[in-house]
Amino acid sequence: MGTQSNQNPQADRAPMPMKCSTCGLDFLLDETEAPPFCSQRCRMIDLGRWLDEEIGVPHEGGPEPGKMNHSIDDDEEAQDA
Ligand SMILES: [Zn+2]
Repeated sequence: MGTQSNQNPQADRAPMPMKCSTCGLDFLLDETEAPPFCSQRCRMIDLGRWLDEEIGVPHEGGPEPGKMNHSIDDDEEAQDA
């Protein structure tokens, strides 16, 4: 409900469970190396998303190595009956 007034002296040291917004992994804020994400990797991924949206991916650039774009081939196989 509305219980956000938990002022415990040990709460400052208690590990705070968090959920990574990038990979959805549950982790402790006390153990992460790149809060509020579970790892540096997830932080960079999230950062990349923001930059990607802001820039808008100009078509004048070359092929980006970190782009996950699977080209789906039209693989329509007719069933041999
Ligand atoms: Zn993560």
